[in-house]
Amino acid sequence: MRNLYIMFFASICTIISCTPINENIKEEKRDIQEVTSDSHTYSNYSEIRTTHLHLDLDVNFKNNTIYGIARHTMSKSDVEKAIFDVKGLEIQKVTLGSKNEIETDYLIGKTDEIKGAPLTVKIKPGTKQINIYYKTTKETEALDWLTPELTAGKKHPYLYTQGQAILTRSWIPIQDTPMNRITYSADVQVPSELIALMSANNPKEKNTEGKYHFEMKQAIPAYLIALAVGDMEYTSFGESCGVYSEPELVDQCMYEFVDLPKMIDVAEEIYGKYRWDQYDLVILPYSFPFGGMENPRLTFANPTLIAGDRSLISVVAHELAHSWSGNLVTNATWNDFWLNEGFTVYFENRIMEAMYGKEIADINAVIEFQDLITAIADIEAGDHPEDTQLKLQLEDRSPDDGMTDIAYVKGAFFLRTLESVVGREKFDAFLTNYFDNHAFETITTELFVQYLNAELLTPNDIVFDTDEWIYRQGLPDNCVKITSKRLEEMESWANQVNNGEAVFTGKYKDIKRSDRVTQEWQAFVRKLSPDLAPETLIEIDEKLLMSAEANPAIKSDWFILNVKAGNTSVRPEMEAYLIKIGRRWYIESIYQTLIDSKTPGDLDFAKATFEKAKSGYHFVSSSTIEGLF
Ligand SMILES: [Zn+2]
Repeated sequence: MRNLYIMFFASICTIISCTPINENIKEEKRDIQEVTSDSHTYSNYSEIRTTHLHLDLDVNFKNNTIYGIARHTMSKSDVEKAIFDVKGLEIQKVTLGSKNEIETDYLIGKTDEIKGAPLTVKIKPGTKQINIYYKTTKETEALDWLTPELTAGKKHPYLYTQGQAILTRSWIPIQDTPMNRITYSADVQVPSELIALMSANNPKEKNTEGKYHFEMKQAIPAYLIALAVGDMEYTSFGESCGVYSEPELVDQCMYEFVDLPKMIDVAEEIYGKYRWDQYDLVILPYSFPFGGMENPRLTFANPTLIAGDRSLISVVAHELAHSWSGNLVTNATWNDFWLNEGFTVYFENRIMEAMYGKEIADINAVIEFQDLITAIADIEAGDHPEDTQLKLQLEDRSPDDGMTDIAYVKGAFFLRTLESVVGREKFDAFLTNYFDNHAFETITTELFVQYLNAELLTPNDIVFDTDEWIYRQGLPDNCVKITSKRLEEMESWANQVNNGEAVFTGKYKDIKRSDRVTQEWQAFVRKLSPDLAPETLIEIDEKLLMSAEANPAIKSDWFILNVKAGNTSVRPEMEAYLIKIGRRWYIESIYQTLIDSKTPGDLDFAKATFEKAKSGYHFVSSSTIEGLF
């Protein structure tokens, strides 16, 4: 076979480099970018980079394989090799040229458990087009192939991808770094009874051939390329927004997401124009490992968001906010992940405030802050206490290690604290300009701090210790405090119960679960003591149907409390929950609590349940849970 030749450049190393995206960037900006490297890519994107990618994809559900050609249009360069990231892909051949393709040599380097392997392609100076013929394998971590039983309709199979952080390389050979932005197009063949959707312009209905063409004309990082294939229908909420879902979920979606158009208007009023033309949601099956994924033009959403009372709509606000923070202005490396998520949680809360009032926004923020305090304690007790810094050092580690409440909630509270110091008006003007001035660019933490000093702090004579927030562990003393009367009331009720008073007495005598929103129940459950007798928990469960009927956000907290309290009577419902739900956020802490539990049988129960459940989890969740054991 002709595809292996010994490279004279023996060391396949991480390239120390800059991101040459905007030729006009200021010198000082260039200095910082030049010392920035993305340790999670093998690609030589600073020497030669993909500018446009065209994908020819054939999605085959008979053997759960995508047969693909990745056609990379490359930047002008005189180098003799182009390096791409691959993981778990079978490369069949590589050609150069567009009209007359000529096969070229390539080499796949040693595979690293986290990063995969470098695919080095021999090219000629001036090569414009590189075509990589490949197929996915069982090792493909981005793809979740679902049998019909795991869908709402139970009639058709389903496929979706999850690219963030560095999984795109497991379904597309690509320079998989957020430091390079590309446009893409695709021709996708799927079975004729299914529809294909991408993070691009999307069809509104199925066609009889199962052939779909996509264009994404705005440049995006590789982790935002996404595909979903299934039996889906489109419900329009207006000219430029709507929801794709399985037909069985259309009515529920209509109710739950009706505020979507207003939410887009509100977001635009706060930080300027929505720049991606269309904003749709696609409701995926329950195995989806996240609440949502901000794939541009088409947020991938978890069906657990359909709470029935619109109380988990903040996740949609979050994914929409990513259209500015993350998708428009993108973290340069995964060490800067807080730039994506901290800004987004902050913006999400601003959208919630504008939509539903300060009380609801504060309720959300207080619950998030509780999660943050737990996360800080957990991280400080672990092997990497430095992970409580906003700026991370994830070299030689999985970028997933940085997906904690530090990036999300500590990041958001940093911005809230800044806002409280400078005032909202100035802060909003600053952020609007920040999004504008860095639109369709990547940014490092250092560049952000420089911009913050130059544009906000120095001109307003404000002294603010940004280093304390960004480069030091834990939570600074100047962190703003947010309180919520409604949550405090629920907590004092819980305290009464903890002190031995009857649960359903006085004004709580006839309380129903629908009388309070999700976050109020979370505050109540979180405050209940694990020392309570199982009978008390059973009494609460019988009245409020927590185990049987509550939404996943409440159930997750409820099951954790019951495990800590040694109440094993909830095991059947907990098992059903862990088998149905694949969202990592909800299931990880339940498994962790079961593993840490001193109650006889809990560890065995956790192991047995995971065995039954794991085939329904995406790799992101199953690998995390496996790690806990
Ligand atoms: Zn996010």
